[in-house]
Amino acid sequence: MKKVVLLGATGSIGGSALRVLRAHKDRLQLVGVAAKGKHRELADICREFKVGHAVLQSERAYIEAKKAGDFPSSTQLNCGSQALESLASLPDADIVLVATVGTAGLRPTLAAIDAGKDIALANKELLVLGGAHVVEAAHRKEVRLLPTDSEHNAIFQCLERSPIDQVDKLILTASGGQFRNTPKSELSQVTPEMATQHPNWSMGPKITVDSATMANKGLELIEAHWLFGLEADRLEVVIHPQSVVHSFVQQIDGSILAQLSPPSMTFAIQHCLLYPDRAPSVEPTIDFTKALQLDFEAPNYARYPCLELAYEALRSGGAGPAIYNAANEVAVERFLAKEVAYLDIPKIIEYSLNKVELLVAPSLDQLLETNNEARLTAQSLKL
Ligand code: NDP
Ligand code: MG
Repeated sequence: MKKVVLLGATGSIGGSALRVLRAHKDRLQLVGVAAKGKHRELADICREFKVGHAVLQSERAYIEAKKAGDFPSSTQLNCGSQALESLASLPDADIVLVATVGTAGLRPTLAAIDAGKDIALANKELLVLGGAHVVEAAHRKEVRLLPTDSEHNAIFQCLERSPIDQVDKLILTASGGQFRNTPKSELSQVTPEMATQHPNWSMGPKITVDSATMANKGLELIEAHWLFGLEADRLEVVIHPQSVVHSFVQQIDGSILAQLSPPSMTFAIQHCLLYPDRAPSVEPTIDFTKALQLDFEAPNYARYPCLELAYEALRSGGAGPAIYNAANEVAVERFLAKEVAYLDIPKIIEYSLNKVELLVAPSLDQLLETNNEARLTAQSLKL
């Protein structure tokens, strides 16, 4: 029985993880859960899975939950950042699935690694911000860093039988987002309502906007750099609108390996939670007796400036990725608040990359400072 802590239990990845946990109750036990503010949903999860420990990041939500008496008496409920770190390092747990959004998951992830827990990592922003430190800590503590993001999970599976020194390049697939075929002249009219709908994947609002701009693929390039140790010139992106091939690994002899599964996160989540074992999936896989079309095309960088900016940030090294991530987070927040237009998102990232100091080998504290400074810079740009 593997004991699991799930950070971000009420989100999209959280929901897929619960499906996997429900289907494999004989192998997986949920011992801790966290959310930001959705206390009713979190309480329901605690009741269904008989979870012993729960954390709400928001103090207000915690007070409301206590007043409402939402949680079963067998669940110990806490709140705040310190409680999140304690939950992530719960003595009872074997593995922590980090499915929060944004960089708030960084400290809890480092705390979990420090406590010797394996990590299933869905949250890409924290790796883009603190990748060097997370990867170093995982090596030092000899814990597994299991990539849950579908592309990285695919690469991880392909690499199981081929050492990285025999790899020529990694090719990340991308759906191209919801505006892949929208005439460029119409992109200025894109609203938050339009940008939070994805044709293949059902995901949280931030990553859905990132998929449209391809900042998501930009973050994933940086994520791949930290997870697999390859530089920007050996990381490529190909548009694959069906989201069935989750990435490719090209060997030095020209052979190309791929991992395929339907566009649902339950496959990657299950792979990580049960690793290194396997078990039947919670939903049907691809049926090749039915018609299936797989298309691939090179991305048009002029259409996706956020992708090109990510390569720039990765090549500049040091604090570049941290600035890219922070500026993108703020740009998406401002867009969703209808304060800036869709096409302003890359402008805010570019402005911040040019303005914020690019430290060469930043410490964790310096990266957190850069994160704050880049957020303020991205807020300050008047458009
Ligand atoms: P959602 O917005 O759907 O869910 C986010 C979850 O994190 C919620 O449970 C939320 O709680 C919680 N949360 C947010 N902020 C905090 C905080 N400060 N402290 C504690 N908990 C917090 O996001 P997704 O599930 O879509 O994405 C999660 C992560 O996984 C992101 O980094 C994303 O890039 C990555 N990812 C997502 C994929 C997907 O298919 N959705 C695919 C690949 C990667 P509450 O509900 O209370 O606000
Ligand atoms: Mg992905």
